[in-house]
Amino acid sequence: MKKYLLLGIIIGGIVIFFITKHDSLGKVVYEKNALTLEQHASLPIPPKIENPKIDTNAVDITYLMGKFDPAKEKDFILIPGNYLVAKNTLYLRKETLDAFIKMRTNALKDGVTLNIVSATRNFTSQKSIWENKWTGKTIVAGENLKTKYPDGNDRFKKILEFSSVPSTSRHHWGTDMDINSVDPSYFNTVKGQKEYDWLAKNAKDYGFCQPYSADRKTGYNEEKWHWSYVPLSKDFTNEYKKLINLKDIKGFLGDTYVKQNDVINNYVLGINPDCL
Ligand SMILES: [Zn+2]
Repeated sequence: MKKYLLLGIIIGGIVIFFITKHDSLGKVVYEKNALTLEQHASLPIPPKIENPKIDTNAVDITYLMGKFDPAKEKDFILIPGNYLVAKNTLYLRKETLDAFIKMRTNALKDGVTLNIVSATRNFTSQKSIWENKWTGKTIVAGENLKTKYPDGNDRFKKILEFSSVPSTSRHHWGTDMDINSVDPSYFNTVKGQKEYDWLAKNAKDYGFCQPYSADRKTGYNEEKWHWSYVPLSKDFTNEYKKLINLKDIKGFLGDTYVKQNDVINNYVLGINPDCL
């Protein structure tokens, strides 16, 4: 069922009205001639977050392993450039972007700017990141990992400090994003620390959680920049646990080390329990 809502905002003493279309959950329906995302960002913040659910029957291993093109998926939306650190072509699921915009709008009121560095990355994109580290094409913290770690399993584990094996990234799902910087040292600066402190205190109010928190027993190193939209990502995590086996994770350099590192239990499921 779709509903229409008349909304007014005051700009320079003039009241401007918008008519927005909402679905049965009260979410804004994105379509031609509907409110733009920029306009949406300027609307009053609803008093409580919605709790969208995915249709788990529609989720299959192809989706969970990122083997699709987000540009062609109806549930995904291009992120407007004014929410990005750099002018890249990035997508999120609509509900995730909706929640991010609400969070960003309120952060701005506290003097904190939140912009997206990276969002949905499909299998092909993650394979490129992974293999460039594997072959030494990408220098990681000043090191060529191919020459520094000639043993394949050592190199596999080294890359896994911060990067996911293709097929296992939360970035596949359209629910996860990196905010402001992916350099750990950035969050030691006054600006970075303030942004992280704001997120650590407030992100949960918008449905976001830091999956790679400090002090976990297994998994990636702490990532202060990576945030998940939990109302959806928790379902994808649970479906992943049910549907994917280690033997499904293949098709990239180094994939022979997937099994011995048990990347599903140690990495996909090695997350902050608050995100489950
Ligand atoms: Zn990330």
